[in-house]
Amino acid sequence: MFAVTILGNNSALPTLERHPTAQIVTCNDQLILLDCGEGTQLQFARYKIRRSRLRYIFISHLHGDHYFGLIGLLNSLSLLGRQNPLTVFGPPELETIIQLQLQCSGTILQFKLQFVPLTDDKQGVILEDKDLTVSFFPVQHRIPCYGFVFEMQKRKRKIIPDQAKAYEIPAAYFSHLQAGADYQRKDGLLVKNDWVTLPPPKGKKYVYFADTAFSESLIPYANDADLVYHETTYLGDLAERAAERFHSTTVQAATLALKAGALRLIVGHFSSKYTDLTPFETECREVFPNADVAMEGTSYII
Ligand SMILES: [Zn+2]
Repeated sequence: MFAVTILGNNSALPTLERHPTAQIVTCNDQLILLDCGEGTQLQFARYKIRRSRLRYIFISHLHGDHYFGLIGLLNSLSLLGRQNPLTVFGPPELETIIQLQLQCSGTILQFKLQFVPLTDDKQGVILEDKDLTVSFFPVQHRIPCYGFVFEMQKRKRKIIPDQAKAYEIPAAYFSHLQAGADYQRKDGLLVKNDWVTLPPPKGKKYVYFADTAFSESLIPYANDADLVYHETTYLGDLAERAAERFHSTTVQAATLALKAGALRLIVGHFSSKYTDLTPFETECREVFPNADVAMEGTSYII
C-alpha cells in the first residue's frame, strides 16, 4: 500500500471548507505526515486516520500554514499515551520552537521525540526505512523550503513459476528465492537464483513540491514520478503575482509535470480568494491531462 491522503489543500488561512497544508503518506503499515497546518489533528479525526500509526513527520518550511498544527498534535499524542518514538524532520529552527513551547507550558512528552534538521548542504537521502526511501531538495521560496521524494522499493525478486516448477523447487522455499537465495537440490544440482527469478519490479515514486516559485531547475526531481503534488496558489493569469510571492500557477505546475514525464499530477495550496476550484483543474488539464485538484479526505494511490 502506497498512497497519499489530503488533509488540507488551502494556503495561508484556515477556512471552514478548506484547511492549510497537510498530507498523510501511507507506506504499508506506517503513516507519514507531510506538513501540519493548523487543525491537522481535527482532520485526522474527521477522516478516521489512526494517530498511533504515525511514525514520521516532515515539515517543509516555517510559514505558519505548514506547521501551526504541530505542537497541538504532539501534545495530544502525549495525552493519548503514545510511547512509540516519533521523528520530526524540518528546518533547524523548528526544534527550538518545539522545545520552547514545551518548556513554557511545562509539558513533558510521554514519548521520545527525535528531531532531524534539514539544511541545504545535506540534501539527498534523509531516511531509509524498510520499504521506503525519502530524500529532500531545496525549492524556491521566500524562506528556506524543501520538497520531498518518497520512493517505495519492491525488495522481493519475482518468481518465474514455470521455471521454479521445472527445477522442482517446493513452494515452501519461495520466500528464500524472493530474497535472492539459490536452491540446493538433493541430487546435487545447485539452482542459481537468477534461473528462476526476475529482479524486483520498479519501485513507485511520489514527489511533493511544498511552496515554490516555478523553476526549470526543479523538473529533474519529478522525473518519471508516478505521482507529483505541486502547489498552484494562483490560476494562470496571475503568473506575475505568483513569481513575486514565490508561488506557482496552474500552467506552471502542469508544465513541470509534463516536462518531467510524470504519470499523474495533483495540485493544491489554493489561495483563499478562490471559492470555485474547477478552473484549477481545467487549466492544469489543458497542459497536462492527467491532473486533479487535491481534495481533502481523498486518497490517491501512488
Ligand atoms: Zn510558504
